[in-house]
Amino acid sequence: MIPIAKPQIDEAEVQAVTEVLRSGIIAQGQRVADFENAFTECSGTEHAIAVNSGTAALHAALLAHGIGEGDEVITSPFSFIATANSILYTNARPVFSDIEGKTFNLDPEQISEKITSKTKAIMPVHLYGHPAEMKIIREIAEDHKLAIIEDACQAHGAKYDGKTVGSFGTGAFSFYPTKNMTTSEGGIITSNDKKIADKCRMIRNHGSSQRYLHGILGFNLRMTDISASIGLVQLGKLGNYTAQRQQNAKKLTQGLETIEGITCPEVREGCEHVFHQYTIRTQERDKLAEYLNHNGIGTGIHYPIPIHKQPLYQELGYADELPESEKASAEVLSLPVHPQLNESEIDIIINTIRQWSEEK
Ligand SMILES: *Cc1c(COP(=O)(O)O)cnc(C)c1O
Repeated sequence: MIPIAKPQIDEAEVQAVTEVLRSGIIAQGQRVADFENAFTECSGTEHAIAVNSGTAALHAALLAHGIGEGDEVITSPFSFIATANSILYTNARPVFSDIEGKTFNLDPEQISEKITSKTKAIMPVHLYGHPAEMKIIREIAEDHKLAIIEDACQAHGAKYDGKTVGSFGTGAFSFYPTKNMTTSEGGIITSNDKKIADKCRMIRNHGSSQRYLHGILGFNLRMTDISASIGLVQLGKLGNYTAQRQQNAKKLTQGLETIEGITCPEVREGCEHVFHQYTIRTQERDKLAEYLNHNGIGTGIHYPIPIHKQPLYQELGYADELPESEKASAEVLSLPVHPQLNESEIDIIINTIRQWSEEK
C-alpha cells in the first residue's frame, strides 16, 4: 500500500524526546521557548506562541482579537471543521463565503458581500498548502478595519508574493502527524503584534501573565517540551520535506495532466505552494478512489462535506448555497505526495490512473 500520509520520525526525534524525558522537565520549558524562536524564522514573524493543537491556535488567536458573542467572522466552508468550530468556541458566528474552484481558497470577489456591521475578522484558509489571495483579502480587511486570522494549518512555509503565510495577520499552524511537519499533537500562533502575542501567551496559560495572577479567562493550551523537542528536529527538516513535496507534485502533474477527465492542481503566479495535499478533480471521483484503493494506492477526500452542510451546522440553521464548495466536495481526490514517496511509487500512481482512464 502506498499511504496517503507518512510521518517521518527518525533516530534524531527519538533522541531528542529521550533527552527531555531524562531531564525530568517534561511540561512547558526551555524546549518550547527554543521551538518558538526557531519557528519565527519559518513564519517570518516577530512572535510565535506554541500551543497544543492547531485548533487551539485558531481559538486563542480569535480570543486575542477580542472576538466573541455577537461578532461575525468570514471564512471558507471548504476546510477541516476545526476552522469554523474555532469561531463557534468564542460564541461568534462563522459566515461562509464560497471558494474559487482553481485553488480551493476563498474567492476574494465574494468576501465583501458577506461583510455586515457585525463582521470583525476574515479567516482565510491556505488550503492544501496553497496561499489564499492575500493581497485582495488584506485590502478588504484594511478598508473595513477587520482582523485577519490565517488558518495556515496546512501551509508551513508557503509564500504569497515572497511573504510567508502566517505573517499577513495572526497565523495559526498545526503540527498534527499528517501535516507538513509534526510535534505529535501541537500548534503555534504567529504574529508581528506584541499585544496580540502577549494576550495569546496569557490565554494559553489560564489568563496568567504572572504566576497565580489571572487577569482574563484563559485555558490550558500549553505545548510540552516533549512535543517541542520533536518540533525542533522536524523544523530542521522542513525545507527538505517541502522541496520533496514540490518535486513529487511536479512529477505527478507531468504524468497526469494529459489524462482526460483529470484536472491537476494549479499554482497561482506569485505563490509558493507547499503541497500539504496534491488534490486532483474528477467527475468520477468515487470510482477512481475505489480503483486506486483496490490497487494499493491510498487516497483522501478533503473534504467530502462542506462545513455548512455538516449536521452540526445544519442544526445551527445554516442554509447557505455555496455551489463551488459543494461541487469541489464531490470532485476532489487527494493523492499521495508526501516526502517519503519514491520515483517508482509516483510512476505507479500515474500509471494506475492512466489505466483506469483507459479501461473505463
Ligand atoms: C489540521 C487542521 C486544523 C486543526 O489542527 P489540529 O492540530 O488538528 O487541531 C485546522 N484547520 C485546518 C485547515 C487543518 O488542516
